[in-house]
Amino acid sequence: MVAAPSSKSPLVAGRLALDFANISSAGDLSWEDFVTFLIDAHLVSQDRAARLLPFLKTEPRAVDAVLLRTLRLRESLRAIFACIVDREPFPTSWAEPVNEILRITEGHDELVFRESAWSLKFVAREGGLEWLLAAIARSAAELLVEGPAAPIRRCANPSCGLFFYDDSRTHRRRWCSMSACGNRHKVASFLRRQSSRRRS
Ligand SMILES: [Zn+2]
Repeated sequence: MVAAPSSKSPLVAGRLALDFANISSAGDLSWEDFVTFLIDAHLVSQDRAARLLPFLKTEPRAVDAVLLRTLRLRESLRAIFACIVDREPFPTSWAEPVNEILRITEGHDELVFRESAWSLKFVAREGGLEWLLAAIARSAAELLVEGPAAPIRRCANPSCGLFFYDDSRTHRRRWCSMSACGNRHKVASFLRRQSSRRRS
């Protein structure tokens, strides 16, 4: 059995869909990155993750298919959330990848004839791995339903730019996390003050 990857970083966004939009900010996404995110977000257990990882070799087509959907979903969510942060409208078609997942992961009942008897069996919409995206799509849908007033923000560190949901009491949260970007900013402005004091 393959060991599940260990969690890389705590999720800071406060909403699943925002954390998802934040994963590995540039370009491609590996199966391991995605499974690690599923663990971090408590969407699958370590055991389940360890069973998912070998699918890269045993079910390469299913993995490719779900990774393609994952990327599509992530790119559209990033574009949508960026518009919400900037209070700009976006085309409704951008939400289609969300609907796609909601549609697929919905199950249905099916008549099954076995041992000379009919029974009803619940079948997930596809045999693939798309169910892994179900909770993420649902979270994204909830954020969109919240509308333009949803307190979606971007970290004020320009080299970071992670999304987060500002449910702080004052609604003035500026950083993805205090330990990552907030403190760095504090130290930088402290050093700036020190050096200008020295110069004057
Ligand atoms: Zn940040």
